[in-house]
Amino acid sequence: MHEPCVLLKLGEIVLKGRNRQQFERLLHDNIRRAVRGLGVGVRVWQREGVIVLRVAAAEGGEFGAQTAADLVAERMSQVMGLARVCRAIRVAKEPEAAIEAAVQLVAGRSGTFAVRARRRDKRFPITSAELAVMIGSRIQQEYGYPVNLRAPDTTVFIEVDQHEVFVFTDGRPGQGGLPVGMSGRALVLMSGGIDSPVAAYRMMRRGLRCGYLHFSGMPLTGPESVYKAYGLVRQLDRYQSDSRLYVVAFGNAQRKLASSGAGKLQIMAQRRLMLKTGAALAARLKATALVTGDSLGQVSSQTLTNITALDDAVRLPILRPLIGMDKTEIIGEARRIETLAISELPDQDCCSLLTPRQVETRARIEDLRRIEARLDADDMAEELAAAAQVHVPGS
Ligand code: ATP
Ligand code: MG
Repeated sequence: MHEPCVLLKLGEIVLKGRNRQQFERLLHDNIRRAVRGLGVGVRVWQREGVIVLRVAAAEGGEFGAQTAADLVAERMSQVMGLARVCRAIRVAKEPEAAIEAAVQLVAGRSGTFAVRARRRDKRFPITSAELAVMIGSRIQQEYGYPVNLRAPDTTVFIEVDQHEVFVFTDGRPGQGGLPVGMSGRALVLMSGGIDSPVAAYRMMRRGLRCGYLHFSGMPLTGPESVYKAYGLVRQLDRYQSDSRLYVVAFGNAQRKLASSGAGKLQIMAQRRLMLKTGAALAARLKATALVTGDSLGQVSSQTLTNITALDDAVRLPILRPLIGMDKTEIIGEARRIETLAISELPDQDCCSLLTPRQVETRARIEDLRRIEARLDADDMAEELAAAAQVHVPGS
């Protein structure tokens, strides 16, 4: 037996006491969804405190078990709820097998190393300390890496279990957070901008399964912003799988607001109509919150007074994970989650249509409600939600 596999350390899920089993099952489902497209057979195996993914190269598949395990490990680094992802080798319970596996795992490294061994099965013929010394000296013989027990560059872990031995290195950090779906469902208002994809990522990481709603300026604009939203959702789909993008052509509704004399309140009236449409769609999708990329003070619609006026438009909670972040921090995160390049592509954002010369930074709720009453805004929102086009931008 010399089986390449992947070892996953759980994130915060370990704190969840009684519901833990349910959350673990959800995480297992998410893991299976994530590897679906890889062409690799994966078996999910819950062990004490860790998940082991056993990898079978597909019959007649393109790659061997080694490469398959590398692919799976890479994919796992995008799944929410995992603290660490480690490539591992599962071997027979014999010291020589463990030594060979360890030597193989650290090939091609540089810097110092240490070996930490643990025996869950005390019947194993040699002690943890002895095993660590044996493996350490063999690695030194083989590659000449210096040992550093305090702050090694690479740590080799050996776990002697009841039926097998796992050999692995520290691996790489996972996304952390909670498994997607654990906190329920939300609908993200997705522009083609930088902020809303980051907001979506943050809420997925707190366990919300996200659907996406984009408003294009069509028929007053071209479809470019829809392509961007599609591309962004496709990137974000790596973190949850099975995402849906709903697209609403908003241009005519914007024109109605403008010709009803919204004036300085045009942008705020648009934003409230977007939220109302979001709430109507959320009800159909059984989503129980809206998510936006608002950040306090970033643009005129995001003053505290205006945010309060936006909250007044719907009864659903509006989650704003970026509220306290600086633009440079948001940009940094957008780069890290690989949405920035798409957000920076040019498009004609619907919000830049029909913009008044002056923008109200202290919108009064009564004034907004009056404009909406004239137009039957709640009916408009229902109709817009009903006419939304659904896309499946899976990877
Ligand atoms: P972003 O970078 O996300 O576009 P922004 O800084 O440009 O945000 P606004 O244009 O005021 O700020 O939008 C604030 C939030 O309103 C966005 O983060 C998004 O959640 C929502 N929103 C704005 N425009 C649209 C749109 N066309 N479709 C869907 N949601 C939108
Ligand atoms: Mg925007």
